[in-house]
Amino acid sequence: MYSPSTLAGNRLFVYEVAGLNQNDNTDSLDYSIRQSGSVFFTVPYSRMNQEMRRITRLGGRIVSIKPLNGIAPVATVSSASTPQPIAQSSPVPEQTKKKAMTQAKEKTDIPVNIYRPNQPFIGKCIENYALVDEGGIGIVQHVTFDLSGGDLRYLEGQSIGIIPPGTDANGKPHKLRLYSIASTRHGDKLDDKTVSLCVRQLEYQHPETKETVYGVCSTYLCNIGVGDDVAITGPVGKEMLLPSDEDATIIMMATGTGIAPFRAFLWRMFKEQHEDYKFKGLAWLIFGVPKTANILYQEELEQIAAEFPDNFRLTYAISREQQNPQGGRMYIQHRVAEHADEIWNLLQSPKTHAYMCGLKGMEDGINDAMSGAATKNSADWSVYQKQLKKEHRWHVETY
Ligand code: FAD
Repeated sequence: MYSPSTLAGNRLFVYEVAGLNQNDNTDSLDYSIRQSGSVFFTVPYSRMNQEMRRITRLGGRIVSIKPLNGIAPVATVSSASTPQPIAQSSPVPEQTKKKAMTQAKEKTDIPVNIYRPNQPFIGKCIENYALVDEGGIGIVQHVTFDLSGGDLRYLEGQSIGIIPPGTDANGKPHKLRLYSIASTRHGDKLDDKTVSLCVRQLEYQHPETKETVYGVCSTYLCNIGVGDDVAITGPVGKEMLLPSDEDATIIMMATGTGIAPFRAFLWRMFKEQHEDYKFKGLAWLIFGVPKTANILYQEELEQIAAEFPDNFRLTYAISREQQNPQGGRMYIQHRVAEHADEIWNLLQSPKTHAYMCGLKGMEDGINDAMSGAATKNSADWSVYQKQLKKEHRWHVETY
């Protein structure tokens, strides 16, 4: 298994890049272009992300990345053969084995199930405000709970369970519902004592009676009052954790409330100050919503984009206001398709992680979009994606 931090330290990597023409821009890359059309140059680990972006900007295509000491390529991207994240065909380097063990150990430090359904933590709602502007579709609320007096800790990307009060149709207590945590581990008040959620009220028409049905827990949470008690379980989830690598490239694809874990990521990266985590990589959010009024946390997202133009990229797919190239509604998969070659190139770096969160239906479209880019590079997306998942670089949480 290949893992980003196996490359840690001051190691050097040789990039083979095709498709660059020598001109004023490429001169700044500090190499000369060979007759074959490929160029080779050496990149220190700490600059891999920047170089990757620069190459992409200049229209180059990375053919392979190899450690300078030549143990095994990190990835090969050849138009003549299937891209091989090298772990598939090469012996696993010693360092990789060591890293895998470190990761396994790290996992034991992830808080899980501190509170279980038979003994939930009883928190208090301290904030509940609307996230959808006038003219938007549906109700989505940002809800914050006070955790004082308990032991509930969590990491960005985890979820908590909420047990709605009352009983179900069979007279049994309601079961818990999971919600992605929208705050960082320090909470919105930065005092390590709160947790926030981004909840959409489920509303649908009963297929037979045609009556409007409202979801039990989401309706309860959207209407919860400040000062009300709430039964909380968890935290749970290890799928959506943020890597500790400050130079990582983090591609986030969200629909609707799928923004929740990414709000936590972005607040940790850009809005909080930490001694042990100073994000210097690239974060790219591709966010699908029906209308502009439904862009959750719009003001803060755009503020981050304005303040950190080199480190944060924000791309919207606003289905009812924007058109895809075929003239239909612009859904997230159309934006991913538009940028699929770039995303594909970014994924060639072991420092890149892609995350998907939100409606279950988003997965197929995004896979179709990425298949197109993979095919152009003579690769099979499903095989490639499996490898990315194995490397813990393709993260999915849809519901
Ligand atoms: P319920 O009363 O439980 O009703 C749901 C049921 O209604 C469904 O099981 C189905 O039988 C029926 N139903 C739903 N839609 C239709 C339809 N169109 N036609 C016919 N029947 C239908 N939600 C968020 O809002 N924010 C989050 O951040 C979030 N994170 C999640 C993270 C994870 C890991 C998971 C698994 C889910 C997450 N959810 C999130 C969803 C959440 O857990 C609940 O499922 C959601 O709030 C609905 O619960 P409810 O009690 O309101 O609905």
